[in-house]
Amino acid sequence: MEYFAAPVAKLIEEFSKLPGVGQKTAQRLAFHVLNMKNTDATELANAIVNAKKNIKYCSICGNLTDKDPCFICRNKKRDESVICVVEDPRDIISMERTKEFNGLYHVLHGSISPMDRVGPEDIRIKELLHRIKDGVVEEVILATNPTIEGEATAMYISKLLKPMGIKTTRIAHGVPVGGDLEYADEVTLSKALEGRREI
Ligand SMILES: [Zn+2]
Repeated sequence: MEYFAAPVAKLIEEFSKLPGVGQKTAQRLAFHVLNMKNTDATELANAIVNAKKNIKYCSICGNLTDKDPCFICRNKKRDESVICVVEDPRDIISMERTKEFNGLYHVLHGSISPMDRVGPEDIRIKELLHRIKDGVVEEVILATNPTIEGEATAMYISKLLKPMGIKTTRIAHGVPVGGDLEYADEVTLSKALEGRREI
């Protein structure tokens, strides 16, 4: 880094902390910023500062929002009797894009992973149970990722919810559209079989 003036080195260092950005890309981005018009560079910096300052987690579902509760929790047209549980706020965007789901969400902010020392108390399971206590919720759809951690988390939550008389469902995971059966691994295929339905 001694080849660069200190402010440039700092910029490169900060870019290299971003996911998927290696040293070379960080350098390219830093030099790109240095070549930008002052107004554009300021806008970029302000966008980062503003997003960080104004975006928080929804106190009900844990989604990212600038207003609390978030626009989904505030929407009276949504079905309050169904909660879809996801690991990450980004999963809400994916679900919303399908336009198939009209219930509410609950973001866990992670999954149970003993390897990473993440236990049930480290993700937002307590908050989920709290939401269910008011008796409005009839079904919880577990849409955690089809990974070992996601499956373990779904199992854990379903064991807590079933005695409470809540219908607990798991989204079907299977062969992706455009995928080839030949290349699907056993877990994916067995999940696809499990989630089969009559046509
Ligand atoms: Zn919300």
